[in-house]
Amino acid sequence: MRLKYKSGSHFFQHVPTHHSSRRRQRDAGRLRVAHAPDGTLADTFARPLRDLRISVTDRCNFRCVYCMPRAVFDKDYAFLPHSALLTHEEIERVARLFVAHGVEKIRITGGEPLLRKNLEFLIERLARLTTHDGRPLDLTLTTNGSLLARKARALKDAGLTRVTVSLDALDDTLFKRMNDAEFASADVLDGIFAAQAAGLAPVKVNMVVKRGTNDGEILPMAERFRGTGVILRFIEYMDVGTSNGWNMTEVLPSADVVARIAEHFPLVPLDAHTAAETAQRWGYADGSGEIGVISSVTQAFCGDCTRARLSTEGKLYLCLFASTGHDLRALVRGGASDAEIATAIARIWQARTDRYSQLRGSASAEPAPDGAGKRVEMSYIGG
Ligand code: SAM
Repeated sequence: MRLKYKSGSHFFQHVPTHHSSRRRQRDAGRLRVAHAPDGTLADTFARPLRDLRISVTDRCNFRCVYCMPRAVFDKDYAFLPHSALLTHEEIERVARLFVAHGVEKIRITGGEPLLRKNLEFLIERLARLTTHDGRPLDLTLTTNGSLLARKARALKDAGLTRVTVSLDALDDTLFKRMNDAEFASADVLDGIFAAQAAGLAPVKVNMVVKRGTNDGEILPMAERFRGTGVILRFIEYMDVGTSNGWNMTEVLPSADVVARIAEHFPLVPLDAHTAAETAQRWGYADGSGEIGVISSVTQAFCGDCTRARLSTEGKLYLCLFASTGHDLRALVRGGASDAEIATAIARIWQARTDRYSQLRGSASAEPAPDGAGKRVEMSYIGG
């Protein structure tokens, strides 16, 4: 059985699973088949829709070498015009329909989301939404931290639950080399501790690890955040987009990260909070906190992926590695009713087959050589 959206309502009915869909599930190998237990949406691999990432700008004040290399994102780069961006009202409307479909967690991202004007007004709107069973949303934001010291209090007051800050190195020379925009690590640290002081807890810090570039920072970072309440997470360098010149030799497997830290600070595995959690959790054996590793290259977690992504201009993407999105802005600005947009979202999610990270390396995961089917950039779709 799978769940079918009943057109024009927020209700679902059980329908027999089509043979081809059953075959796809079998072919999915290690993908776990699980129906959304409460009647909300499920895709062709029975993955429910639980998380929505909303990109609020495609611009960033950093030029991280692995994300927005300056050679590509230069002064001539065609960023989206303001009129293309979903307005706060449009974002809230679409988000409300996603929440009615079972979304429980919204992450605001970008580009650099704190560059979006009056972001706290959007947060206020989103913070008023409740899950389909009446609970507050988990409302969070990913930021490079450069403007966080100034904005943490206002974001908290607007209803933001917590925050994730990206920081790839403490060493200032290296950090500046990686962000390629002269931002100092001390400023990001100020932002992290301002977020903690404002109560945006727990603050998580994401470090993308590039072998040969910043892997020497793994231990200093672990030492710096141990015992502070900040949860440090190490992300495997991924082949998102097509402009970062990704190479497998620059990926340091999470298992090595854990081994390097455990040599100095013994670690114990911790249970996941939820099935769809992206990070594997490890605790310091002496109780001084926890770290996480996000291993989307060496241990793909597509089987539990419950994430949809709304781009800055209102396109719905079903995978970080997708090449095309579904234009919800056209519906929103074309006069579609809530029921029509909700139906479109349901149909798109129910047809979802994406599992790029599991197929990575196979022909079906490669963008076409002529550039058609080029994967979207992370700065556009949001991290
Ligand atoms: N500007 C915000 C920030 O810096 O957190 C939000 C957007 S950024 C695209 C989101 C996250 O994606 C950051 O933690 C960034 O380090 C990460 N990221 C970008 N490119 C990546 C890549 N190729 N592999 C792994 N993580 C990447």
